[in-house]
Amino acid sequence: MAETKRLTVPAAEEILGGYFPVLDHGFVSLVDYMGSDESIEHAARVSYGYGTRKRSMTRGLVRYLRRHRHTTPSEMVELKFHCAMPMFVARQWIRHRTASVNEYSGRYSLMPLLFYTPEGENFAVQSASNRQGRADETSPELYRETIERWEAARHSAADTYRWLVGEEVARELARIELPLSTYTQWYWKIDLHNLFHFLTLRVDPHAQWEIQQYGNVMAGMLKRVAPISYEAWIDYEVCGTHMSHGELEVLRDLLESDSDGVTSRAESKRLEMDELKAHGLSPREARELIEKLKPAEVPDFELDLKQMQSPEEFEARMREAVPGEFE
Ligand SMILES: Cc1cc2nc3c(=O)[nH]c(=O)nc-3n(C[C@H](O)[C@H](O)[C@H](O)COP(=O)(O)OP(=O)(O)OC[C@H]3O[C@@H](n4cnc5c(N)ncnc54)[C@H](O)[C@@H]3O)c2cc1C
Repeated sequence: MAETKRLTVPAAEEILGGYFPVLDHGFVSLVDYMGSDESIEHAARVSYGYGTRKRSMTRGLVRYLRRHRHTTPSEMVELKFHCAMPMFVARQWIRHRTASVNEYSGRYSLMPLLFYTPEGENFAVQSASNRQGRADETSPELYRETIERWEAARHSAADTYRWLVGEEVARELARIELPLSTYTQWYWKIDLHNLFHFLTLRVDPHAQWEIQQYGNVMAGMLKRVAPISYEAWIDYEVCGTHMSHGELEVLRDLLESDSDGVTSRAESKRLEMDELKAHGLSPREARELIEKLKPAEVPDFELDLKQMQSPEEFEARMREAVPGEFE
């Protein structure tokens, strides 16, 4: 292969084309990337002009751009992934319209009969406070019965699919009774700016746990491609927050700032809920402000390289799950 003149990052090269398992049958692989933190700096310099900054200031510049939402320079970096996920995850994922996608065709190809089964520890009851979420683990008995029922339903769906394919019914029709737990796969290419938007929403605890698992691995890959941008994303978005006027007024009630620093207005001053509301916050906004101010851990999406597998391993697993000639 010809030596490249392109910018490459050793940490990204190390995982390029490696497959990281996600859930029980899924994976994410970084198949290609273009650019890194330096590309953002180069793009920004075009608009800033010659001689305005020194090269050693990449970190400061990248952080400044993120902080002030000058986002177009980060569109110069691109990442391309190969991913396999259950269809209900794909349905959430595809809502991010700023990526280029090529999905496995169930019209053209045979579907691998692989179905997602949550582990017992992730099988939970409906949350009472969040209608889109889950709460505590269920009883082991309920989990066991669920697995039995799912297996029966999946066995029947897979059996019907095999039968329809055997009867030479069109694949586009044979597939229509397969459940949302069936795995699909795609190539997904996106620029860094939009990848940050995707990851901010999907590594967040409000996102469904299953898609979070994909976000976590992709964030680990991104950390290797553009580490300075990754660090800025953690600081300003994952662990940072935007504040409304009312929220800032609450903080101004407690803190005073001047050109030399910030001072607390009283040694120990407490604002009760009613006082938070007096600053114009709704009860929900007040509760959310309290949440925002709670101490939070800084996540680290470092990849576990021991998990990395070859493409052939996943290819073989998918092929084996296709009905017909490979059974
Ligand atoms: C926790 C969670 C719960 C959700 N629940 C639901 C739900 O119940 N029902 C539901 O339908 N969806 C739901 N969604 C999906 C959500 O509404 C968004 O569709 C999804 O997060 C993609 O966000 P986006 O549009 O900002 O991203 P992208 O499609 O990646 O777009 C990025 C940005 O580009 C701009 N953009 C892209 N396309 C257009 C366009 N056509 N017009 C204008 N601006 C555009 C917007 O500024 C957008 O923010 C949920 C998402 C999350 C994270």
